Amino acid sequence: MAKPVIWTVDDDADVLRAVERDLRRQYGDRYKIISADSGESALDGVKQLKLRSESVALFLVDQRMPRMSGVEFLEKAIEFYPEAKRALLAAYADTDAAIRAINAVHIDHYLMKPWDPPEERLYGVVDDLLDDWQAFHRPVFEGVRVIGHRWSPRSSEIRDFLGRNFVPHQWLNVETDEAAKQLLATTGADVSALPIVVFSDGHFLGNPPIAEVARKLGLRTKSEFPFYDLVVVGAGPAGLAAAVYGAADGLHTLLVEREAPGGQAGLSSRIENYLGFPVGLSGFDLARRAVAQARRFGVEILSPQEVKSVRLEGSTRLLTLADGAEVGCRALLIATGIAFRKLDVPGVEKLIGAGVYYYAPMSDAFSYRDGEVHIVGGANSAGQAALYFSKFARRVTMLVRGNSLSDSMSQYLENQIAATKNIAVRFHSSVVAVEGTGHCEAITIKNNQTGAQETVPASALLIYAGAVPRTDWLARVVERDAQGYLLSGPHLLREGRRPAGWPADRDPLYLETSVPGIFVAGDVRHRSAKGVTSGVGEGAMAVKLVHEYLGLL
Ligand SMILES: Cc1cc2nc3c(=O)[nH]c(=O)nc-3n(C[C@H](O)[C@H](O)[C@H](O)COP(=O)(O)OP(=O)(O)OC[C@H]3O[C@@H](n4cnc5c(N)ncnc54)[C@H](O)[C@@H]3O)c2cc1C
Repeated sequence: MAKPVIWTVDDDADVLRAVERDLRRQYGDRYKIISADSGESALDGVKQLKLRSESVALFLVDQRMPRMSGVEFLEKAIEFYPEAKRALLAAYADTDAAIRAINAVHIDHYLMKPWDPPEERLYGVVDDLLDDWQAFHRPVFEGVRVIGHRWSPRSSEIRDFLGRNFVPHQWLNVETDEAAKQLLATTGADVSALPIVVFSDGHFLGNPPIAEVARKLGLRTKSEFPFYDLVVVGAGPAGLAAAVYGAADGLHTLLVEREAPGGQAGLSSRIENYLGFPVGLSGFDLARRAVAQARRFGVEILSPQEVKSVRLEGSTRLLTLADGAEVGCRALLIATGIAFRKLDVPGVEKLIGAGVYYYAPMSDAFSYRDGEVHIVGGANSAGQAALYFSKFARRVTMLVRGNSLSDSMSQYLENQIAATKNIAVRFHSSVVAVEGTGHCEAITIKNNQTGAQETVPASALLIYAGAVPRTDWLARVVERDAQGYLLSGPHLLREGRRPAGWPADRDPLYLETSVPGIFVAGDVRHRSAKGVTSGVGEGAMAVKLVHEYLGLL
């Protein structure tokens, strides 16, 4: 944490040097001493400090300065740091002005020049002021800050991106938070620039694209090398596991993820069926641990970065990334999971991120405290969300098309839902419209049996309507089933015959696709078991098969 600041301002260079020296000698180990030779330049510095989230403990300012007096400076400076202690350095002739300033800008003290010896005439006063400041000071947040409107989809997108990429950040709602208004004023930007991301070095960006935020944060989107033993596409449980085991086994491994490590599992509030975690763990935690493990084994992770296409050059698999860069590898693993199915209903699209979410970020649950939350879907992920949001919302209503949860949900979740008083389940129900100005306010529910429609208030609509594989970019490279899942191993053999164009004198390995050296693991694989455990298992197994393949080359 940065040391709090003691600012001293004086236009007389000799005096300034002497004060700075005395302060540094006594307080330099605990405070950062900053000096300026005019009120104007000090004010610029104060604004920069505010943007960098640093604290100011004390302003020690000369009263008699030519363009801006000490009192005038303090009047402005305390707008940024109202809690900072203020002391004036005054000559005998300025005593009256100093006394008047006690009322005008609530000066805590004035010190007469000269202050020699400091042990007698300076340190006692400054000690008192600093003790007082420390007693009431609450350390400020020093990471990234996002200022925005609560219902802005862009604010929501940026916060979700930061959260899922493990970037500590503070959310400042400009409608309700004084600190947000103050920080916005410090940037000098207009509300039309919101959301604004203020970085810890004091720089800020108005309404920035995600790639720009990633670049500024130093998230890696370019590979260090042109060629790897193994490239893994997708950093969900399957991809993360493969990358960890691949690198641990000595393969030079690159992992490419287009959104954030963790994949779908990263959205789960509590994974209760993962081996070794009897009370469950959140998907965020699982992803955070796996990323740390991958980095420890030397995996290079590009995120956010998307693989757009793949082509073959002899035994090299060449990938083109979203920024046009190319990277080659000996073996490629596709672990791209499945994408959310859209709810094609009037009103949904324009309110995405403003109360309407696909697979809602858990970090948003608190925003719906005492709200009416509706959830579309009856599978495990919808059940987990219902339980999690029920801790905050007044009521959670699950809208399920069928007539029971048992067909689609694990028994343990169904039991927990039945035992939670503020969760209601409406069967035979679909959402047919969503309304709201700026954010979700009401939804219309249709009873699929009777056709009756009802419009009810809704603070949030969370959609868990299933998912489809994301494999169009692979369409002309590897074989897929009718839904787009990738075929591998035994599923490629038809009446014992190998796939068309298969060049090798052997059958495809168990997780190998119709192209030798391109493997698949996790939810995107045809007939995979789906889920975190099987994803991790397949990722590990894929590495074993990659070794076998490389040994065959
Ligand atoms: C809310 C929720 C709760 C869940 N709870 C549980 C649970 O409790 N237990 C359980 O077993 N399962 C649970 N699941 C299911 C589980 O999360 C998935 O089965 C699992 O994440 C699948 O892992 P995966 O690695 O195959 O794919 P995913 O987790 O889907 O990861 C695929 C990754 O690939 C990335 N990607 C896609 N295309 C590209 C590309 N072209 N370039 C770069 N990257 C790309 C995606 O951004 C994504 O991060 C839950 C799912 C959700 C949504």
